[in-house]
Amino acid sequence: MLRSTYAVVHLDAIEHNISYIKNNLPKSTDLLAVIKANAYGHGLCEVGTLLDQNPDVAMFGVAICEEGVRLRDAGVKKPILILGVTDPEHFDAVVEYDLIPAVFTKEQVSLAENSARAHNKTVSVHIKIDSGMHRIGVPSLDSLEELLDVFDSVQNVRLAGVFTHFAKSESDPAFTALQAERFDQAVAKIHQRGYRPVVHAANSAAILSGSRYSYDMVRLGISMYGYYPDGVSSGALSPAMSFVTHISNLQNLPAGEGISYGQKYVTTRPTTVATLPVGYGDGYKRCLSGKADVLIGGVRCRQIGTICMDQIMVDVTNVPSVHLGDEAVLIGSQGSESITADELAEKADTISYEILLSISERVPRIYR
Ligand SMILES: *Cc1c(COP(=O)(O)O)cnc(C)c1O
Repeated sequence: MLRSTYAVVHLDAIEHNISYIKNNLPKSTDLLAVIKANAYGHGLCEVGTLLDQNPDVAMFGVAICEEGVRLRDAGVKKPILILGVTDPEHFDAVVEYDLIPAVFTKEQVSLAENSARAHNKTVSVHIKIDSGMHRIGVPSLDSLEELLDVFDSVQNVRLAGVFTHFAKSESDPAFTALQAERFDQAVAKIHQRGYRPVVHAANSAAILSGSRYSYDMVRLGISMYGYYPDGVSSGALSPAMSFVTHISNLQNLPAGEGISYGQKYVTTRPTTVATLPVGYGDGYKRCLSGKADVLIGGVRCRQIGTICMDQIMVDVTNVPSVHLGDEAVLIGSQGSESITADELAEKADTISYEILLSISERVPRIYR
């Protein structure tokens, strides 16, 4: 039973975006595909199993242990790095499922060592360096020294990688350069101590800014799904997801009729109103009320009245021939028109990332 509201995920667009990015990287730079948060709304296991077969993808990045476990249960074989903080009680699962935790405290290294020993295995970890984002990571070179002392003393933990994260790589080259300089010092210290981990820093914005911060590997997130981190599209990337519904009711209303909760919108002329079975319960944000456009019959139509949980109304007066059941595009293209997640993000005062991953679980994903 397929709902008339669904998201179409174009897997070929994801592969196109990956090969475009990979072809612009230095030959020796590997690509980590970030598929946290349900692959930015595109489907964790679907995207993970697809890219497990893609030779351009060396590794996966997830935010939490549970996402890694789900990928392993789906049969994904490539290395999986947990980018966030792993809960102390999840280190056993990390070892059992061959996941790679990010570590930045002595306690985390000890937890990894204990779990690895208990399973008679070796666990690879990546050190996270805080170079200015001030979210997680080793805060200073002194704490890094102390952390490396712990690495010298453990047997079942392998220092396989070191990474940092940029705070403003889409907008502030000078601060990004400062972060990279601090990171380079940390990497130099790790090298002095005889370790040769995989070094990585760049997110989509840093990747698109050129090869300066490529190091051994880059971490590709939003741009894999077809979006530019700064919300400005240059056209080389293809958005991978469209969000579609179909007209469920049509009414011809006279001027002076209030529409939806609170009757915040009142018709000013005879108006043809289409109802669509999508609302904020599907991730079509309520703050877009009266601001967003929807494509019907190749025409941009204004959404009118308050967005309800499960339904919205749209002014379709200007659509030449409109019928019950007609396709309505919320994100994507129709005819010569298109609506991007960036367009909705600007109207909702957020970023494309949040628009894409707001599309809720009850919206079926169709893979093409
Ligand atoms: C989410 C995330 C990324 C990907 O960022 P994009 O801007 O989507 O490319 C990379 N690295 C870390 C640590 C992240 O948390």
